[in-house]
Amino acid sequence: MQSLLTDQVRLLLLVGLCGLLWSLESIVPLYRYRHSRVRHAVPNVALTLILLLTNLALSFSSAYLAGFAVRHGVGLFFFFDLSAWAQVVPGVAALDLFAYLAHVLLHKSWLGWQFHRVHHSERAVDVTTTFRQHPGETVWRILWQLAAVLVFGLPLWVVIVYLILSSLNAQLEHANIKMNSGLDRCLRLALVTPHMHKVHHSRDQRETDSNYANIFSFWDRLFGTYTAEIDFRKLRYGLDGFDGKERQTLRGLLKMPFMNHTRN
Ligand SMILES: [Zn+2]
Ligand SMILES: [Zn+2]
Repeated sequence: MQSLLTDQVRLLLLVGLCGLLWSLESIVPLYRYRHSRVRHAVPNVALTLILLLTNLALSFSSAYLAGFAVRHGVGLFFFFDLSAWAQVVPGVAALDLFAYLAHVLLHKSWLGWQFHRVHHSERAVDVTTTFRQHPGETVWRILWQLAAVLVFGLPLWVVIVYLILSSLNAQLEHANIKMNSGLDRCLRLALVTPHMHKVHHSRDQRETDSNYANIFSFWDRLFGTYTAEIDFRKLRYGLDGFDGKERQTLRGLLKMPFMNHTRN
């Protein structure tokens, strides 16, 4: 299984879906942005490359800890004697729960928010926003992933399956595409949909501080952080105080965590 999911295959899937969604954004956009899409994408693509390199540099840690957990019988799953395949669904759900918690803490802690502002300062959410995150946030998310591997005793291939599903769904969530609202409502019974995650990018803090989930929407329902419907004609993306041109460059985004700006 692991050999089928090589880094090259994962990268190909990501680039392929990104190309497809980029085209769909021209055909069925949720919002019609007036700026140049290519120019807007430049800092986001640069941050995506930094994210890929950060993940690559730290990829040995997941492999090492997953191997350690399996060899030494560490983690909750070893109490249940699950077959390899029976670990997939609970394993993916466990990693997704930890991703939810990591995301909530990025909003609720002062330091976390300093870094996470980079993602939320996006004024025109589209598929290129998916991996617009500061490398500091990337490291934080990887640490939570490693914690999940140890707490649950997850094999590496389950982590890889999770990363593929997570990154593909994240691209879909951010894509600037209008979805059929009936289909969206139906899908979001289990999954985070594009319309559901767009609420999280609202400039209105009551909406920003909701819909934190990554793949499965039920974490938000379970923990009382779910916002169902909003009026997309009134939704405005971004963060007050971070719209300036100099803040939206790659340099500005990398410096953002180290700037003082209190949240209203
Ligand atoms: Zn967030
Ligand atoms: Zn987002």
